[in-house]
Amino acid sequence: MTDASPPYIGRFAPSPTGPLHFGSLVAATGSYLDARAHRGRWLLRIEDVDAPRTVAGAAESILATLADFGFEWDGDIVWQSARGDAYIAAFEQLKAAGDVFPCCCTRREMADSALARDGSRIYPGTCREGLPPGRSAHAWRVRAKGLIRFEDRVQGWQEEELARDVGDYVVLRGDGQFAYQLAVVVDDAAAGISDIVRGADLLGSTGRQIHLQHLLHAPTPTYAHLPVVVNAAGEKLSKQTLAAPIDTLPPAAALRAALVFLGQSPPAELVNAPLTELWRWAHTHWSIADVPRQTQAAAPTTLSTL
Ligand code: GLU
Repeated sequence: MTDASPPYIGRFAPSPTGPLHFGSLVAATGSYLDARAHRGRWLLRIEDVDAPRTVAGAAESILATLADFGFEWDGDIVWQSARGDAYIAAFEQLKAAGDVFPCCCTRREMADSALARDGSRIYPGTCREGLPPGRSAHAWRVRAKGLIRFEDRVQGWQEEELARDVGDYVVLRGDGQFAYQLAVVVDDAAAGISDIVRGADLLGSTGRQIHLQHLLHAPTPTYAHLPVVVNAAGEKLSKQTLAAPIDTLPPAAALRAALVFLGQSPPAELVNAPLTELWRWAHTHWSIADVPRQTQAAAPTTLSTL
């Protein structure tokens, strides 16, 4: 008997902007367990495309923490900082097809004119039909058009009218850096990613990414957007909101808290169980249907007592 469904290839793609915190542990755990539950591969990609935001030593710290938690990734780690040629090739493809245009607008000018026009923050289309005389390009934008629809495995049916909801979006920034939206699409396609499981803070990026997949003739993976961990003030955990790095916590307790956050119910008798036993339970009991749909939630109180 042959299995007709394509092989499951998942990934975890942290940005090295600080040490792994509880929010990124949740994304790593969800994507890892979903891949293993499908007998799939789980790849790691370090998203250091945004050089100015990359913090020295953060990638190494994230990798060491993942290893301490017992995550086992497949194949070589991909570093976006080494993928420039692939991004250039994709950009040239978009350019040759007329899907991108140079834009001279500064952030300031854009905000002023968009706000003046309809109170929105959507790019007002100033350079869409050509640069105004005497101005030179600052960034390159993709012409946004079409209705993007997809079924998210956690968040349900999603629709985005790209021009109205997002507007023409940047793929090559004024500082010469390729935008995350382009890098992620190029890298997921090159790795043959079939299933993306990540935080719901990226739900609003998915429409642009599917649009870029269409323009670049790349397949669209399935998506599952997990709730994002917020602190008591309702802010997403990040270096900026001073999320405690989890490498100071006992891994089994932090993993248990991540599982509970994801709606899984590890049995009480595993409270003091070693990490390997907790993983064994999680591998056999992972259920994406139990992951709560809300896009934001506070960490379980057990975490604050660790
Ligand atoms: N690098 C992104 C982050 O750390 C995740 C990107 C993705 O999963 O598509 O938030």
